[in-house]
Amino acid sequence: MGLVLLAVAIVTLVFFVFLMLLGPSQRFRNTWIGHLHQFFTEDFIDILQDGIKRLLGRRLYGLLKKIFTYVAFEANPLVQVLYLALLTVGVYVFFKDGWTKIPGPYASETHRYFIPPVVFITYLSFALVSFSNPGVVNESNVRRACEMFSYDYINFKPKTCTTCCLQKPARSKHCSMCKACIARSDHHCIWVNNCVGLNNHRYFIAFLSSTAITCIYASVMIAKILYGEIARQDLLNSWYWDPDTRQRVQVTLFKALSMVINTNVNLGALGIFCALCSIIVTVFFLAHLYTLSDGTTTNESFKWEDVKEAVEDGRLYMKSQTSQDSEMAQILHFDQVSNIYDQGRWKNIWRFIVPEQTL
Ligand SMILES: [Zn+2]
Ligand SMILES: [Zn+2]
Repeated sequence: MGLVLLAVAIVTLVFFVFLMLLGPSQRFRNTWIGHLHQFFTEDFIDILQDGIKRLLGRRLYGLLKKIFTYVAFEANPLVQVLYLALLTVGVYVFFKDGWTKIPGPYASETHRYFIPPVVFITYLSFALVSFSNPGVVNESNVRRACEMFSYDYINFKPKTCTTCCLQKPARSKHCSMCKACIARSDHHCIWVNNCVGLNNHRYFIAFLSSTAITCIYASVMIAKILYGEIARQDLLNSWYWDPDTRQRVQVTLFKALSMVINTNVNLGALGIFCALCSIIVTVFFLAHLYTLSDGTTTNESFKWEDVKEAVEDGRLYMKSQTSQDSEMAQILHFDQVSNIYDQGRWKNIWRFIVPEQTL
């Protein structure tokens, strides 16, 4: 029963993270994911605010609102600390309960040499993406930043950032949390409490891939260790007494697994958690790579979805991208507009890992 409750809690948590990460995408705008995201981020917040205001009175409510605004809309390390805590607790449980069982019947000694570097690289990439300059545009580099990419006159036109009072380079975005314009901005990542941009995109890719590898590796190793325990105790050739049917029943693989998890609760819970995180982080990582391979950042992919919608609604008028004709013409098909930053799938990904220039 306890295991079922734990599994339900983990699945709910993972689903909520998935909803918060992918819910804002235009792809899910009119789907149940989009509606559920809107409910939790708008309607539910309104209902909650109303209830709290009545319950606590205006004064206490004002204080709570200030705290909420800080947590949700200002740069703060809370989610960053949560990631670090989850990783560290996971590493601690693995080294305390799993490490001593290597080598085992299904886990060879070699893993003892692989596990520490994989964990170290995950911490290192997290630190690099968290504390590196994402590509802040300032007075001394704005000119160079503006020369890096041409304006495409679809998503990026020459203009001045009203907050920074500096020219906005093509592909940049002003981040209200970092309080600066970020060159080739991807998104502000709450997990690392930093923007992902021109300078640190490679670290973000390393962070996502190493987190995915750590989760997959940990779940495989825990499965090997637990299966090793089943083999060591020869559970699959054992019988148990079923009090309901009053009969001797042979232990199935599922029963054997739940028996070893019951005696290794922390390791079992870690294995389930890592397996679920493996799916989410790997899907997110592959989706991110796919976006990059189109020659677009996450920020630009949202802009392109808006452009696509405008074309479909017949709302997009623009000058020709290819001819000298300066007349504004209605764009009837999405393929009439092209992404000037697209250099081909592999080169696009390579340029996010190794940019031609950084700030
Ligand atoms: Zn700005
Ligand atoms: Zn930011």
